[in-house]
Amino acid sequence: MAEKRDYYEVLEVPKNASADEIKKAYRKKALQYHPDRNPGDKEAEEKFKEAAEAYGVLSDPDKRARYDRYGHAGVSGQDFSGASMNDIFSQFGDILGDLFGGGFGFNFGGGFGGGQQKPVYRGSNLRVRVKLSLEEISTGVKKKIKVNKYVPCQKCHGSGSEDGQMETCKACGGKGQRVMRSGFFTQVSTCSVCGGEGQVIKKKCTACNGDGIVKGEEVIELDIPAGVAEGMQLSVRGKGNAGARNGIAGDLLILIEEEKNKDFERDGNDLIHNLFISFPQAALGCDVEVPCIGGTVIVKIPAGAQSGDIIRVKGKGLPEVNSRRIGDLIVNLNVWTPKKLSKDEEKLMKDLLESENFKPKPGANDKGVFDKIRDFFS
Ligand SMILES: [Zn+2]
Ligand SMILES: [Zn+2]
Repeated sequence: MAEKRDYYEVLEVPKNASADEIKKAYRKKALQYHPDRNPGDKEAEEKFKEAAEAYGVLSDPDKRARYDRYGHAGVSGQDFSGASMNDIFSQFGDILGDLFGGGFGFNFGGGFGGGQQKPVYRGSNLRVRVKLSLEEISTGVKKKIKVNKYVPCQKCHGSGSEDGQMETCKACGGKGQRVMRSGFFTQVSTCSVCGGEGQVIKKKCTACNGDGIVKGEEVIELDIPAGVAEGMQLSVRGKGNAGARNGIAGDLLILIEEEKNKDFERDGNDLIHNLFISFPQAALGCDVEVPCIGGTVIVKIPAGAQSGDIIRVKGKGLPEVNSRRIGDLIVNLNVWTPKKLSKDEEKLMKDLLESENFKPKPGANDKGVFDKIRDFFS
């Protein structure tokens, strides 16, 4: 891999640049190398990614401090060289989102004609992980989580303007479009300075620098249905980052994680419990108290039970998400053999050793593995 360039050099800012200077420098680079402006230009794409990587580190005070101290080795910084454009947009969409149209949620309300329509900016989606216990999954759960996100700027009520005044965009002369010629082709594209509006804010709000959004937080109550599983993703509309300048908020995406449970393994909506019984219990049969979600259940073990036998307790598993069906508790029997015997026990065992009954006869009282599986699923 090529030697990485210094991040400050990439963004062309001094080492002591302020956060605002870094943000501005990054916007400038992103505009310059944006793929919409440089279609098919691989070098521009690389430069665009390089700037995103540099910004990813320098915009984060912790990462920047580590980078200042240890250089590239100090930040396991996000390497964007293999990243797709969409990855970059989803990462920095909140900053780029108010600059560019197209691929990352820039909607022109009722279609685009003539360039005088006010564009609607869409905030980026947010992802959070939520870890749940099997108990929570079995009943469904309401959870309050605090999310750091972009919220509308209070000072300008999300407009981005200090005084509500607009002026004609100098970049496109108010047309909202720009015409680019390369060879025989003429490409008309939305003006990236004004976003197609043809007008720009005259005096930017000092609190949000004209974006209409600022960093903030929100406590969000999640209502997670019963039966969700590891890896499922739920989305809450409109609870992601606020859109720039009173635009549309992105969505909050919740990735479900499951806590490990010492008593159960999960198989779809069924729960598997490994039960160990003693050798006499297996021979005589017994009632055993077995854990289930939220309590215990008594399971009847028939005399002559074998290791590997399965007892299914109907309806003691997990509910299926968005349905009335409930899975089963599957008790997987294991016969426990003691590791040490007392003198008396040893004598008992030796007597049993001689007994014809205790000699294994797998064909007579045990089904083959495949029969058992067949029973199990029937
Ligand atoms: Zn503001
Ligand atoms: Zn413009």
